[in-house]
Amino acid sequence: MINEIIRKSSDGAELSEEEITLLFKVPLFSWESFLIQAAAREKSERASGGLAEVHAQFGLNAGPCTRNCLFCAFAECNGVFTENTELPVEEAVFRTRRFEEDGASAIFIMSTAHYPFERFVEVSREIRKSLKKETVLFANVGDLTAAKAVQLKDAGYAGIYHVVRMGEGRDTPISPETRQQTIRNAAEAGLLIGTCVEPVGPEHTVEELVEKTILTREARPVFSGAMRRVPIPGTAKAQFGMVSDARMAHILAVVRLALGYEVPGHCTHEPGVMAAASGGANLVWAETGSNPRDTESDTEGRRGRTVSDCRNILEEAEWNILNGPSRFCTVT
Ligand code: SF4
Repeated sequence: MINEIIRKSSDGAELSEEEITLLFKVPLFSWESFLIQAAAREKSERASGGLAEVHAQFGLNAGPCTRNCLFCAFAECNGVFTENTELPVEEAVFRTRRFEEDGASAIFIMSTAHYPFERFVEVSREIRKSLKKETVLFANVGDLTAAKAVQLKDAGYAGIYHVVRMGEGRDTPISPETRQQTIRNAAEAGLLIGTCVEPVGPEHTVEELVEKTILTREARPVFSGAMRRVPIPGTAKAQFGMVSDARMAHILAVVRLALGYEVPGHCTHEPGVMAAASGGANLVWAETGSNPRDTESDTEGRRGRTVSDCRNILEEAEWNILNGPSRFCTVT
């Protein structure tokens, strides 16, 4: 049965909810789990022409966000950040240009959901002006109206990263429908969508993994993938711990098989060799500035990896790496 599902996915047919469920339920370290991982790696290579990409995220601001997503260091209720801070525009320009020089194939600009949108657009225009025309920019911000999505497009963004997250509406005060509407608004504005199954914790059920995997497929993204939750010390979610690298490789592999060849990118975060090798992840991120998984306002030199670190990880996982602007994020 599992062999048939794997073959069906490799042949390019869409898997049903029941089939994805069966793949997630395969025991770790069984022969079938390794078959799933081998097929996912092969599917990622075929979908991306054998080339992995390093992208890079700049976090513009840190501070207590009133949305209070329980897994996030910025959530006001977690008490990690009590003051609003942001890096100066000059620093934003310097760090994003450095990403470009270091060879990142796309640059993501992130802000917390409570950061003023008009200010985000203003800073984005400064960043855009300083980068090469061909450099791909993605925004990672809060929910967007149709008009705001158009503003991002006009500011020079090629796409957004947006997710209906694990526990959305339960561990967050945001409804899944609001998140999906943002994805629709962005697509209608001509923005590409990057998404993934995240943040995955050990307590999450197979049913929720399947539901969120299918939502990423329905978003018609240029990349999907899976990311595990990093526990923020002292927070309610920290008690559940973290999914192991080995289990994430299996989860990533199932997500890859659930998505079709028209989705070239398969991401994971934080970057890891096992996820890239046997989970089939062909996209990882470097980070600088603020980071929702760090307790310091600047993740550079802490949790954040450099572009060079990410290239090393992908090389250790036996990937060839694209040099130049993203191919994943130029698919129309
Ligand atoms: S995940 Fe985003 S919306 Fe939620 S608390 Fe963090 S910054 Fe705010």
